[in-house]
Amino acid sequence: MSLHPAATRLLLRRLGAKCVRTDAKSRAAVGFDSSKIAFPAEAVVLPRREADIAVMLELANRHGVPVTVRGRGTSLTGSAAPVRGGWVIDLSHWRTIRVDAEAGLVRAQAGARNADIQRAAAAKGWFYPPDPSSHEYCTIGGNIACNAGGMHGGKYGVTRDFVLALEGFLPTGEFVTWGTPTRKFSAGFNLRDLWIGSEGMLGIVTAATLRLIPQPESRWTLLTAFRDEAAAFRAARALFGARVQPAICEFLDRYSVHCAERATGATVFPGVAGKPVLLIELAGSAGEVRAQRKALLAWAAKHAVAQRAARNRAEAEALWAVRRKCSRAMFELGDSKLNEDVVVPLKNYERFARFLDKLRRDSGLAIPTFGHLGDGNLHVNIMYHRAIAKERRAAERAVGRLMREVVALEGAISGEHGIGLAKSPFFRLQHSPAQVRAMQAVKHALDPRGILNPGKMFEVFTVWKHPRLEVKLPWDH
Ligand SMILES: Cc1cc2nc3c(=O)[nH]c(=O)nc-3n(C[C@H](O)[C@H](O)[C@H](O)COP(=O)(O)OP(=O)(O)OC[C@H]3O[C@@H](n4cnc5c(N)ncnc54)[C@H](O)[C@@H]3O)c2cc1C
Repeated sequence: MSLHPAATRLLLRRLGAKCVRTDAKSRAAVGFDSSKIAFPAEAVVLPRREADIAVMLELANRHGVPVTVRGRGTSLTGSAAPVRGGWVIDLSHWRTIRVDAEAGLVRAQAGARNADIQRAAAAKGWFYPPDPSSHEYCTIGGNIACNAGGMHGGKYGVTRDFVLALEGFLPTGEFVTWGTPTRKFSAGFNLRDLWIGSEGMLGIVTAATLRLIPQPESRWTLLTAFRDEAAAFRAARALFGARVQPAICEFLDRYSVHCAERATGATVFPGVAGKPVLLIELAGSAGEVRAQRKALLAWAAKHAVAQRAARNRAEAEALWAVRRKCSRAMFELGDSKLNEDVVVPLKNYERFARFLDKLRRDSGLAIPTFGHLGDGNLHVNIMYHRAIAKERRAAERAVGRLMREVVALEGAISGEHGIGLAKSPFFRLQHSPAQVRAMQAVKHALDPRGILNPGKMFEVFTVWKHPRLEVKLPWDH
């Protein structure tokens, strides 16, 4: 039942039925994201032009209707789910992309998909490095709101490092632009960076201008195996300390390798069973890659128990396919997964490896871990069976211990997925009361009526108490 029926009728009258959908099917489709925690939306707004957004925000403020912005709903934290009901504005059809090949820039509307931006840039010889695994589905608006990262983060950085300018709406309904299509901008407070990572709580992004870099001329892939996880982490520290900067440095612990091997039927390392691996890619000019390759092979000879270089692009692709499969492959260890995208500083990698071993022993759960070692962003996957109460409770305890440990190790409870609903119980582990108050003051200053994506981040939401939808999403393969 609608909580704001009069306001929704007014919205319909002002914007029309093509722009405002109130049928049950449309509303249900935007009620959840990849976390699969669902809430009823009262209407879906599909704006045709910017003026529609201004009208919607004006009415939402006047009538106190919550508004949740939606890209493609791939968020893993519930950040795109309308926990307080109200209206969901869906921008996934705003997909225009224009590359300025001379300036090395791209202007993309908020609903443009990450992979389409990458392809448009590549067609003109340019490269857009932030590459979340969900890149074929997720939008640049969602990437900006979550400050999304990916495998290339260690060398090139994350979404924030590529955003030059943003266009969009303040929660109060005024249109604003933050930054210009220039590589430098130092004129006033940097609200562009405040919007990046704000999870749709401080403004609605309608378009972004992104910086591009030249396509790397050459790439080279090496797979290395280590005695155990601590040895792999030690070796990674030695690699970065030697100033070798791979474009990608992915870690898979022995459990992740096992799952990926079973899912793909491929043996990652013939003759080397049960070992963690680092999958490394160098990228750059041919000369740069040649020089780094020499250093990398010397490093591997010293630290790895086995190594295998891809002889050509097809072999490299086969290795990357194994990496891409490992996340999904973990479901052989449990029907439910808590995918925690924590970050640990380099100096504490080995302590973290020891902690994970203890967490596995104490909880009795399978906890395969993989991730982007180039920037310390590890995906700790706590696997359990939903129907087994003992496992559910063990997983709940394990996630709390994990969050406390990463904060104690000077790390972050999220490196790229954000807080949303799922991480809200741990937000105050990361931030002191003064820090939370400062963030709330910013929120209040920009959104005095509290209409934009309310109920997230600052308020504790216990995901365990909410049933998850049994739906298969396009990216659940
Ligand atoms: C299989 C899979 C793999 C993934 N891999 C990665 C990964 O490697 N790296 C990574 O960082 N993430 C990853 N994610 C998480 C997710 O894809 C990202 O967080 C992504 O950035 C969300 O984009 P979206 O368009 O789906 O946004 P949504 O899920 O629709 O929204 C996410 C948040 O952004 C806000 N938002 C969306 N659009 C706008 C806008 N225009 N203006 C303001 N706020 C907006 C929403 O309100 C919400 O708070 C993965 C998810 C899945 C399902």
